[in-house]
Amino acid sequence: QNDLRFQGPIDGNVLAAMALARCGVDRMFGVVGIPVTSLATRAVSLGIRFIAFHNEQSAGYAASAYGYLTGRPGVLLTVSGPGCVHGLAGVSNAMVNAWPLVMISGSCDQRDFGRGDFQELDQVEAVKPFSKISVKATDISEIPNCVARVLNSAVSGRPGGCYFDLPSDVLHQTISESEAERLLVAAEEFARREVIPRVPNSQIEEAISLLKHAERPLIVFGKGAALARAEGPLKKLVETTGIPFLPTPMGGRAPPAARSLAIGKCDVALVVGARLNWLLHFGEPPKWSKDVKFILVDICKEEVELRNPHLGLIGDAKEVLESINKEIKDDPFCLGKSHPWVEAISQKAKDNVAKMEVQLARDVVPFNFLTPMRIIRDAILALGSPAPILVSEGANTMDVGRSVLVQTEPRTRLDAGTWGTMGVGLGYCIAAAVASPDRLVVAVEGDSGFGFSAMEVETLVRYQLPVVVIVFNNSGVYGGDRRTPQEITGPYKHDPAPTSFVPSAGYHKMIEAFGGKGYHVESPEELKSALAESFSARKPAVVNIKIDPYAGAESGRLQHKN
Ligand code: ADP
Repeated sequence: QNDLRFQGPIDGNVLAAMALARCGVDRMFGVVGIPVTSLATRAVSLGIRFIAFHNEQSAGYAASAYGYLTGRPGVLLTVSGPGCVHGLAGVSNAMVNAWPLVMISGSCDQRDFGRGDFQELDQVEAVKPFSKISVKATDISEIPNCVARVLNSAVSGRPGGCYFDLPSDVLHQTISESEAERLLVAAEEFARREVIPRVPNSQIEEAISLLKHAERPLIVFGKGAALARAEGPLKKLVETTGIPFLPTPMGGRAPPAARSLAIGKCDVALVVGARLNWLLHFGEPPKWSKDVKFILVDICKEEVELRNPHLGLIGDAKEVLESINKEIKDDPFCLGKSHPWVEAISQKAKDNVAKMEVQLARDVVPFNFLTPMRIIRDAILALGSPAPILVSEGANTMDVGRSVLVQTEPRTRLDAGTWGTMGVGLGYCIAAAVASPDRLVVAVEGDSGFGFSAMEVETLVRYQLPVVVIVFNNSGVYGGDRRTPQEITGPYKHDPAPTSFVPSAGYHKMIEAFGGKGYHVESPEELKSALAESFSARKPAVVNIKIDPYAGAESGRLQHKN
């Protein structure tokens, strides 16, 4: 085994690192400090790549995206007290997105807890409401089993965030090599345990019968299908049956071009690994027809019970789709291109694309959102396969990007997700570059989204990651200072508007401070040349695009909620 280089008694830091390595962890994201620095350095010496961040929040977002992209828990390491609190951003984001993550935090000495110890906090209780499980090792002998439990729980059933607390006194305890080995073997076994619910064949047959007899069937797929790596059987199902399909924003393939028609008029919808939550209008009228029959495929029993669909298939998306395909093989059916429903959808999609292309074709300077987005789309398409991983956030930037930037390969799009979390961008970029070293990573971010974690451009440069961050700089949140003279009153009327940043900030200069490449662009020619150069260099770069501060809408497409 790779951990025999540690001779003699083994302390908690070494044992935790050994347990992680033995349970298959090969990457960690985090911030070191008291009491976990030694855990990180030990992990590195055991072959685990440790990506050191400036802030636990970004590291947490990175760990969550790593979990989604690889299907294995992303591991976040934080220091005690405030480090754990900052890391909560990552755990909660993983929970809401249903992505596998494990946060490991050092914590204060158990004997001194309650007396105001350094960075004291009841971390297990603090993290509990945001996680699937929250456990503490109260003695060194518990470490391997706790590591296995959190890693296993993070990926079991609906994936999510799990927490493991390591008090500093436990990290300093020691045990013998033979005792450590005994505990590690048991932990490895536990970490491998897998329980996947099986869907009865009668339900598979019922699903097929519903789809076959539908007049306007639809397949919707989301992050759960991507997590299950169900793209193979999904493609096969779509190809054999000709049923129109619709991905959610992160579900994969191209953004839907006839979304309103498809969900508004379908009579049977097979929804695979996507929640009928706000992003899918709760599966209710007026967006959906009131008579639509939902067939829900989800690994999570509670999710299926909550939505109360016509038919619920509780199981792994890939397995369920494989079973459906197998069953259809003996009695195939296909709608065909001339089916009125298929024709209506493809006609509507063509019309929508044509309308959008008219708007995109114009070069608008000073830049609106559409012109630079078209130039970015063309530059991405020119790269071919493997497609870059696209990271996108910011109200207007993300909304416009969803319609314009086409991603046809699964798990190549990361955005604000189920929670609409802004500030995820740089963490996601780093995770994507670490998870898929063969792909370029392109982030298309609003200036506000970028600002949450802009210091992590130093992390990009330090690890020389192939990431190009494109900032849509419209000088503020939604835009610059857009107040009317009547709105500018009160004792603080000379302060900038709460929505505005320093106008035309030089974000490209930040990365130059660390030795990365910065571009400031204001015209189509400048943007094309910056993208051509930075995409082929595959080195850390920031492209700062000056956007008209009046171009964006307040709250993007969610104005009714603000
Ligand atoms: P989207 O945002 O793309 O609509 P959601 O995050 O809302 O997707 O939903 C993803 C769903 O997928 C969750 O309900 C989750 O329980 C489910 N899920 C996760 N892993 C699997 C899997 N392996 N098979 C089936 N469903 C899964």
